[in-house]
Amino acid sequence: MIEQARQTLKRVYGYDSFRKGQEDIISGIMSGSDTLAILPTGGGKSICYQIPAMLLPGTSLVISPLISLMKDQVDALRRVGVSAAFLNSSLSAGEYREIMHGALQGEYKLLYVAPERLDAPMFQSLSERLAIPLIAIDEAHCVSQWGHDFRPSYRQLAGWIGRMANRPLVAAFTATATNEVAKDIAEMLKLRNPNVFVTGFARPNLSLSVVTGVDKKSFLERYAAERKEQSGIVYAATRKEVENVYEQLTRSGIPAGKYHGGLSDAERADTQEKFRFDDIRVMVATNAFGMGIDKPNVRYVLHWQMTGDIESYYQEAGRAGRDGEESECVLLFEPADMQVQRFLIEQGSGDSDRKAIQLSKLHLMMNYSRTQRCLQQFIVDYFGETGVEACGKCSSCLDKSEPVNRTEEAKMALSCVGRMKGRFGVTMAAKVLKGSRDKRLLEFGLDRLSTYGLMRHLPEKEIADWLYWLVSEGYLKLSEGQYPVVSLTANALPVLEGREMIMQRVRTSVRQSVGTDMSSAASPLFEALKQWRKEKAAAEGVPPFMLFFDATLREIANAQPQTGEQLLGIKGIGAAKADKYGGQLLEIIRSLGSQGAPVRTDAGIQQQFSGTIKRPQTGDEQPSHLTTLEFFQAGREPEEIAKARGMSKVTIEGHLIRSAEEGHELDWSRIIPAEYEQRIMEAIDKLGADKLRPIKDALPDEVAYFAIHGVICKYGLKG
Ligand code: ADP
Repeated sequence: MIEQARQTLKRVYGYDSFRKGQEDIISGIMSGSDTLAILPTGGGKSICYQIPAMLLPGTSLVISPLISLMKDQVDALRRVGVSAAFLNSSLSAGEYREIMHGALQGEYKLLYVAPERLDAPMFQSLSERLAIPLIAIDEAHCVSQWGHDFRPSYRQLAGWIGRMANRPLVAAFTATATNEVAKDIAEMLKLRNPNVFVTGFARPNLSLSVVTGVDKKSFLERYAAERKEQSGIVYAATRKEVENVYEQLTRSGIPAGKYHGGLSDAERADTQEKFRFDDIRVMVATNAFGMGIDKPNVRYVLHWQMTGDIESYYQEAGRAGRDGEESECVLLFEPADMQVQRFLIEQGSGDSDRKAIQLSKLHLMMNYSRTQRCLQQFIVDYFGETGVEACGKCSSCLDKSEPVNRTEEAKMALSCVGRMKGRFGVTMAAKVLKGSRDKRLLEFGLDRLSTYGLMRHLPEKEIADWLYWLVSEGYLKLSEGQYPVVSLTANALPVLEGREMIMQRVRTSVRQSVGTDMSSAASPLFEALKQWRKEKAAAEGVPPFMLFFDATLREIANAQPQTGEQLLGIKGIGAAKADKYGGQLLEIIRSLGSQGAPVRTDAGIQQQFSGTIKRPQTGDEQPSHLTTLEFFQAGREPEEIAKARGMSKVTIEGHLIRSAEEGHELDWSRIIPAEYEQRIMEAIDKLGADKLRPIKDALPDEVAYFAIHGVICKYGLKG
């Protein structure tokens, strides 16, 4: 059976081997067991139910709350030749009826359904008329109130499934579940003796960082500017923050989109599409953005503020690098942000029990933000996994800074808080330490405290952060409620009595760019393939990644397959894609031949191309004429470049002239035949450079317009 699954993996998806856990999960399902599988984001859950669905007779249902993910998966399945459809609220009544009709005829191997769309009668009619061998439940943690994204509609599933005449197999999938949540999922979905698979939570392609003590604005600006050609998400906690960050990025010339609950559906859908299609690279969003984002080539996720819990953080951060390539997750941390999260929890819905759970989760998140342990280890530990080695690339692992002794500042702060007798909040304590002339402060006579003005050399905000840090370290505590007051804990005493030192590490370093920034692995062939993909995807109305991932194009550029069979050996090319696009891919490879050989480093690029190109930008951001220039510098003729890039020869020639006009060096001898150069100049001299036609007519036929244009440009004869 597993051999059949392996063949399907190769034939349909073009992958050679299963990833960790996939094989066991698929075998389990195929041998008739209910399943609970916990795989990290990007671990490859979909294949675990798609392959059994293809192999089992009948139509398998996939329950998923993620509308745009459903659409992507169905599109992707159809592309590889598997019949699939979805039912959710994005369909018109007509489309809905049509798909339901098709479904009842058994036309689909997979039918994706949003839980909100399911009701008892619908379930019944589907189950009476269809052979349903398997129900796969994606994002299964939504059934648990302990999870971070509880959805009441998930609660009904077990009842309906239980009432089906022939109860199908049930396979539940999630990426983020603590032991508690996993147990809850199995119970709530009434799984029968499920095989439970936990393949581990670690995401080896992610570099996690916590950055603290920086000016967030300038950090973000620099960070995004350095990654202009990469897709990234910036998460902020509130709509207002999203607006601010968005403004800031746009003002500094970084094209960004914004996404939050206060925008209209149309605005949100529009921005989301632009992001998916790589038309905008940075998306600034609240957590409203994400359920449903399945963009595989997100290279970084930056959190402007901490989230309320580790599950949310890891799920949001985990949207980076779903394609398995190196990606970064950066958390900008200011202790005061904890207040924002507390506020959100206290204002939120939910009873006091739920709020208490949320507050304790918030504390763990706070611990993550300041831990000196390997961040990847910290997270997997949180999900109950042990024995994972330190990742060696998170900000903790890379932190070589010596801790700083901050006992004196701690004593000042603690004694000040002690003197304020638990009647004021952090802001007021900071004002006292600053020596502020705040009206309320003076009214309360706080300027008479001996600690008044003790830290006047520091900005008030920094003092407040310092107090929050002491809270997070457990020396101070905040009361519950909307206006929390700050007071000492028992841990403060040894510090005040000089028996304990307080050491603090300040981490600001994030590696400047992802270690293997594969997007800069440029070669003319890779660029040509990307350009082709972009145009093709636009013509088909799908995002570029739907055709091929960068990794697949890169492998093509490296391996340069010459036949259809060799093409099938490339990871990510299955039979359907080879059939559809193989001819075009081979044509591009052939037309660029060995000149397309990959160039891996910037230094390498500079060696290969003339030194006049400063630093060839790569990625889709590079102006098209400079890509043409690179081809030309690499020895290709305009005609070949035109073919490879799917553009007209005239356009390509225009690109080269434009490059020269911008000061890039061109090898004119390849454009202007030496034997005619003098005659062309004479003709221009006589006839002027305003119109090319009379010049062309005055010269032998074999002198091309491009040569004339070349002479005008080379000698600056225009106008
Ligand atoms: P998840 O739902 O677990 O986040 P997906 O099912 O979206 O992950 O898979 C993530 C990516 O990994 C997809 O692009 C998928 O095609 C790819 N993938 C899955 N299984 C394999 C495999 N065995 N070999 C190579 N790539 C795989």
